[in-house]
This record gives sequence, C-alpha cells and structure tokens, in this order.
Amino acid sequence: MAEAARIARDCGIVGAGGAGFPTHVKLSARADTFAVNAAECEPLLYKDQTILEEALPDFISGLMLCAEAVGATRTLVGIKDKHRDLMERLRDELPRGVDVCPLRDTYPSGDEHILVYDTTGRAVPKGGIPLDVGVVVSNVETILNVGLRKPVTEKWLTVSGAVPEILNFKVPIGVSLMDVLRAAGAPTEGMGFIVNGPMMGYVTDDLLAPVTKTTSGILVLPAGHSLIQRKARATQAVHKIAYTCDQCMRCSDFCPRDLLGHYVKPHRAMISIGFSAEQATAWQETALYCCECALCTLYACPEDLDPFRMMVESKRALMAGGIKPRKEEVEPLGMYDFRRTPTKMLVRRLDLERFMGPHRFAQKVDLRPRTLTIPTKQHAGVPAQPVVKAGSQVSAGALLADIPEGALASKIFSPMAGRVSIAAAGAIRVEVR
Ligand code: SF4
Ligand code: SF4
Repeated sequence: MAEAARIARDCGIVGAGGAGFPTHVKLSARADTFAVNAAECEPLLYKDQTILEEALPDFISGLMLCAEAVGATRTLVGIKDKHRDLMERLRDELPRGVDVCPLRDTYPSGDEHILVYDTTGRAVPKGGIPLDVGVVVSNVETILNVGLRKPVTEKWLTVSGAVPEILNFKVPIGVSLMDVLRAAGAPTEGMGFIVNGPMMGYVTDDLLAPVTKTTSGILVLPAGHSLIQRKARATQAVHKIAYTCDQCMRCSDFCPRDLLGHYVKPHRAMISIGFSAEQATAWQETALYCCECALCTLYACPEDLDPFRMMVESKRALMAGGIKPRKEEVEPLGMYDFRRTPTKMLVRRLDLERFMGPHRFAQKVDLRPRTLTIPTKQHAGVPAQPVVKAGSQVSAGALLADIPEGALASKIFSPMAGRVSIAAAGAIRVEVR
C-alpha cells in the first residue's frame, strides 16, 4: 500500500467535501492524473479557500503524497479564477509541474464530472467515475489531512448567512452545531439552519446534532427565508405541485449533467407523478444520472416546483427496483460553455446576495464542549466497529472505532480526552475531562 493510502487508512481520512468516501480506497487506484477539487462551488462556503490560505505547506505535502500514490504523471489544482491572489500564491509555492487550472465562477463547477472536463478535456462516461478516464479527484481538506499525517479529529467549516461576521473555524469532530453557532455569535431564535451549502445542504432544526468528518458549514437564515421554506417542503407538497408543471423544460436546459451529454431530464421525472409505479419507470430513468446539484429546482424552474426532489425520489425508486446506471461514453452538448450558471446569478436567485461579505479564519475559538457525540458512520460504507466500552477513559487521538474486517469503512478517533459514556453502533459519546 502506498504511503498516502496507509496514512489515509490509519488516520481515518475520508472525502471531506461530500459523501465521505474512504480515502485509502481512492488512493489505492492507479491514474495518470491527480486533480484537486478546490472549486468550492457552493455559495457562502469559504473553508477550502481558508485551508489553502492558512495551511498551504501541509496541503502541498499531502498533495505530493497523493499524486505519488496513484502514480500520476500530471497533478493539477482546479480553482476558481476569481481567487486571483490565491492562484498567484499557489503558482509560486506549488512544486514545479503542478498545474493551477482556473475555473469559471459557475455552479456546480466542483461536480467531479464537470471539474474533470473543465481541467482535462476528458468526458467521464455517464454512469461512470473520473477513474474511468484516468483521473483521481480529491478535495482540499482531504489532501490536507493526508499531509498532516495524524488522526482526523478536527473539521474545518464556515458559519455564514445572517451572522454578525462570516467565520471559518477548525472545530473538534463531535461538537454540536449549537456549540459552533454559539462560538460564532450566531443568532438562533427565529432562525433556520442549513448544514453544508445552500444548494446541496439540508435543513435541520436539530442543533444538538454533531459536526462530522463531512460537515462543511452551517448557513443561518431567517426561518421564513424562501430557501429554508423550499428545502423544508414536505414530500406531499412536492408531489402536489408537480402536477402543475407545464413542461417548459428549463430545468433540463440548465441541468449541468445534461449539458455534459448525460441525457438527464428532470422535466420527465415531473411527468412521472401522473403514472403508476410501473408506468413511471420510463419517465424516471434519466434520474439515475442526476448528481443532485439542485440547480433545476433552486435556479431553473420559474414556477417554484421541485424537479430535484422528484429526481432524487425517482433515482431511489429505480435503484430499489434493481435498475442501475449503465456506463456509456458521452459527448458534451454544443451549449456546454454557454449555458453554465454564473454563481452571481445563482446567489441573486436564492436571495442570498445580502448575506455575502468578507470572511475570516477564527483562529482562537472559545469552544469548551462538555460532551462529544461521535457517529460511527461518518463515511460511505458500513459503520466503524467500536473498540471502547462505556466507562473507558480515552486520550485525545485515541482510536474509538475500527474498520470491520474486509469492509468499506473508516477509523474513528476521539478528538479530546474524556470518559466514554455510550459506545453503541450509532454513536460514541465522550464526556470531556
Ligand atoms: S439536481 Fe437537477 S440540475 Fe442537478 S443534475 Fe439532477 S436533474 Fe440535473
Ligand atoms: S422548469 Fe419547472 S415548470 Fe418547467 S418543466 Fe421543469 S419543473 Fe416543469
């Protein structure tokens, strides 16, 4: 096993920007290109940019280890061209031969298929992954964690929205969202909360939920804000309004995966609402290739309908019925370059313009949690297996849960010293000393 893959396995490193795929598995592949996803395309998140500004030497160390692990002959960093100063610094400080590839400020420029096409010109097959075209993609924080060479016990995140100041933090995994909001001085009365970005994040009112290895941010908005209302819409309401779809096809026109030639047609999923489960399948099929970016609902649809939720529901139904995506070569559409969604326009459409502003790294955080709640599944695959019992005393960085033999999972460590009060399959609770 290559050094980076061994570090990733032993330190419990997972994809910090998405579904938490265990990094040691990803780094065990062979590819001619290693691509850093520094697009950070969700509006109002700034933690990847902050990592590059605050922890560049460790990031570079991780990057070189990762590129070597997969045998890459080309290493690149895809970053938005609006970060002129940061791009300049990267060009100065990255080792010779690492390309800094400017990306347009569009959404979702961090979608892996889009990032690969924009930086390499290679079209990932529909139903495939970047490795199919010889590319391994990894996000900034994941690479930093490899460079740090120590158990993952902290998480970088942004607290933004209707807050006194937009702040980027590094916090212990397992602290509650409430702990983080308090440290940020964020209001909680009469507010709504989106965990992760405004597009792909989810609305929650459970502020006791913990920060995990994949939490990227907390967006605080007035409870009545249209984004909170739309994302929190009940499934029944989504179905009811789906009948009013006039099939204008704007959702499909703007779909980034459709632009890549994947034939993803949310307007067809809207029609499926009028059919029985068996008949609906033919209308739903393109949902198998949806990347769940939510652009169709939150930007494209002029009628405030929810094609995204219909696509997600369709995909789940098809997969449950044993219908799986098929891998096929694709050719991006001629409109690919011209029909991209500028982030500025998206922010305006989401009514988030008034929450944009300067942000900074809060180096000193007054976070003194009494309890850490550490889920045993913060990654793709199966839960990690607890190796501690209720009553065990643990030190900071101690192993709490291990990878079950032969399974896809990731190790879990204690961010702080304390006493384990619960060690169940779902979560391990540490009472901090
Ligand atoms: S969420 Fe909508 S816009 Fe995004 S890939 Fe799926 S269908 Fe296309
Ligand atoms: S954009 Fe809205 S109204 Fe138009 S087809 Fe899509 S879901 Fe229907």
